[in-house]
Parts: sequence; structure tokens; C-alpha cells
Amino acid sequence: MTRRVSIFGATGSIGCNTVSLIAEAPDDFEVVALTGGRNVAKLAGQARALKAGLAVTAHEDCLPDLREALAGTGIETAAGAGAICEAAERPADWVMSAIVGAAGLPPGLKALEQGRTLALANKESLVTAGPLLMATAAAHGATVLPVDSEHSAVFQALIGEDMAAVERVIITASGGAFRDWPLEKLRRATLAEASSHPNWDMGQRITIDSATMFNKALELIETKEYFGVRPDQIETVIHPESIIHALVGFRDGALMAHLGPPDMRHAIGFALNWPDRRDLPVERLDLAQLGQLNFRAADPERSPALRLAREVMETGGLAGAVFNGAKEAVLDAFIAERIGFLDMAHIVERVLAKMSAGRHISAEITLDNVVAADAEARRLAMEDVAKGQA
Ligand code: NDP
Repeated sequence: MTRRVSIFGATGSIGCNTVSLIAEAPDDFEVVALTGGRNVAKLAGQARALKAGLAVTAHEDCLPDLREALAGTGIETAAGAGAICEAAERPADWVMSAIVGAAGLPPGLKALEQGRTLALANKESLVTAGPLLMATAAAHGATVLPVDSEHSAVFQALIGEDMAAVERVIITASGGAFRDWPLEKLRRATLAEASSHPNWDMGQRITIDSATMFNKALELIETKEYFGVRPDQIETVIHPESIIHALVGFRDGALMAHLGPPDMRHAIGFALNWPDRRDLPVERLDLAQLGQLNFRAADPERSPALRLAREVMETGGLAGAVFNGAKEAVLDAFIAERIGFLDMAHIVERVLAKMSAGRHISAEITLDNVVAADAEARRLAMEDVAKGQA
């Protein structure tokens, strides 16, 4: 039976991998909507190739180019954040949430309100509003499937298991671009150096987040929100090869590990075919050739982001929205080369401390409150960035 699918963030790294898997089995899928940002040429090419019903750019000023690129195809076009949310309301069976950042939350919520199966790559949705997202899914009979490789691994290790038997969840971390750099050298890390990952081919923002370990910090929070485990049950370990993505430890001492090549098409394909398993064009591991896998503890001095994630999990409420909003703002500032590599964690820590002292961090997790906390965190972070430059 043909499945109706929509892809939010189609032009990004996760989006393109999703498009490529769908393009391999065109008769199995009907593409309802594709959304992108500024990469209009790519969005139009994808929409033509997949015969999408609708193509939406996040930016009004990109709409004329999108219209021109799709003229004569019969493919509908639209622009803006509102149009992306409207696209999420169109009838679809499966929706990929692969917009980067907090902007992914509103369309994800809209898709869940329609009872869709939401394949969630946008980890920021769970970090900023996990309880709201999961409650919305439950209220509308919708399904959330994790796409982050670690969370897909945990999900797969838990199939057929009872959550009550779970003792701990271990999320592996490659350690990012600078895992072997001395702390002193980290201070001078450049944008170009932080933008290249040793194992994974990903978008620039998540690649830099891997170098700072903010990505792993987001994933710890994501684990708590998605699987409902306590913070003290979640561990992380540096595993430079990125072959084991996560492990689940059970009360009898057994550890179930999920292994796979560092290729997001596995986790995306698993979510796309769920609850079935189908052939996927991913490399098969040759364990004898791999020879050995390595593990070491994360160094807390080098990874303040992991400590902050623990604080966020303990605080709860809107702390995740504050953490993510501040993190996105300092990442923008680092990409604009306004601050240094280590400044990012320092500024996020100060914003968290300032906002945790206020009352609004314990406000109810509604979309409006998340948006307000996110905006205030970004404002405070940028104030700090500007002070540093004064
Ligand atoms: P990319 O930066 O490669 O792509 C992001 C996508 O979002 C693009 O389609 C981009 O459009 C679009 N976009 C950017 N800003 C906005 C906005 N304000 N509104 C609407 N659309 C926007 O990101 P990735 O694919 O790397 O990551 C996507 C999500 O998946 C992130 O949450 C990330 O943490 C998560 N993830 C990614 C992994 C990976 O391997 N890349 C692994 C696990 C999780 P355009 O490019 O056209 O401007």
C-alpha cells in the first residue's frame, strides 16, 4: 500500500537522506509536502523528482524563486513558518521532522495533533518541550519514532522488553572533532575545525554541537523525555568509532547493544519502514575487519555541556527551552565568529543560572511559554555575546 509522507527540513542532511531512501522505492510512497529554508534550488529539484504535492520554503523572500523553479509542474508552493505548520496539517501517514533547531517544534506538534506517525530527528523538540510533545502524541493517538541514531538504537534494543526491567541507558559519544585535543588548544579552535566531524557527515550546526558536546547534552535530555527514564539512569561514554550507538542495561545485568555503521540512513530507514524491517542500502559491518572497539569516560572538564544537561534534567520545566535557546544563540555567534569555542558553554551556563533564579522557569510547558523562554534565553545570550565584544 502506498504511504503518504511529508518531510520537514527536506533540504538538510537528514532530509536529503530521507529523500534518497524514498526515491529508491517511488511506488511505495506518495509525497504530500516537502519543506526547506533558503536552499530553494534543492527543494524544487526534490519536489520535481518525488512529484510532491506541495513545496514550502520557510522564507517569504524565497517564494518567487521557488514559484519560478516549479512553474508548470502543478506543484503547489507556499512560504513562511505558518505555511510550514499548515503543511503539517495535510493528510499524511508518516512525517519526518528534520528542521534544525527550535523552529522544528510547532510543525511537529501540528502533525501529532493530526494523529500522524512523527519520525523525530529534531531533538530540540524533545529538549524544549518533551512533556508537551509526548502528551500531544498520547492525546491524539499519534506515534513518535526516534531518528537520532542513539535513540533509534535504544528503541530497537527495547523491542519486546518491559521498561520496568531497565536499569540504565548508555548513549555513546564519538567525542566530536576535538576529542583528542588538549584543553588549552580548544580555546583557539576555529569555525572550520569545529565544522568537520571525524565519523558522521551531518549539517554544520549539529557537527559543531558534537565538538562542544552540546549535541550529546541534548541527547541526554532527549533520552529522559522520550523513554521516561530518570536522569541517574542515563549514562554516556566516549566511543570514538561510532559503531555502538547505545546500550540498554537490564536489572539482571544484561547489556543489549545496537551496532551499525555511522550512516543516518539506517535510523531513518528503520523509522520509515517501522514496524517492519526492509532491505536498506547501508554498509554491513565486518567485525573481524573492525578488530576492536574503544571506550573511555567523558572528561567533565572538557565537556561542561554534559554537566549543564544534568542540571537541566533535574530542574525540568522550561529549563530545556532555556538551555536550547541559549545554545542556539551562542552557536549563531560562534558561526558568525563573534565568540570563541569555549565561550559557548560559559555563556549558556550564565543564561541558565540567570533564568533559573527567576520564577518563569517553572511555568507550565505550553508552546507559548516555550517560545517566550526560548526568546528570553536568546536575548540574554546575545547580551552576553555583545558584552564580551565591547
Ligand atoms: P541541516 O542544517 O543539514 O538541515 C536543516 C533543515 O532545516 C534544512 O532543510 C533547512 O533548510 C531547514 N531549516 C533551517 N532553518 C529553518 C527554519 N527556521 N525554519 C524551517 N526550516 C529551517 O540539519 P541536519 O539535517 O543536520 O539536522 C536536522 C535535525 O536533525 C536537527 O535537529 C539535528 O539535531 C537532527 N539530527 C541530525 C543528524 C544528522 O546526521 N545530520 C543526526 C541526528 C539528529 P535550508 O537548508 O534550505 O536553509
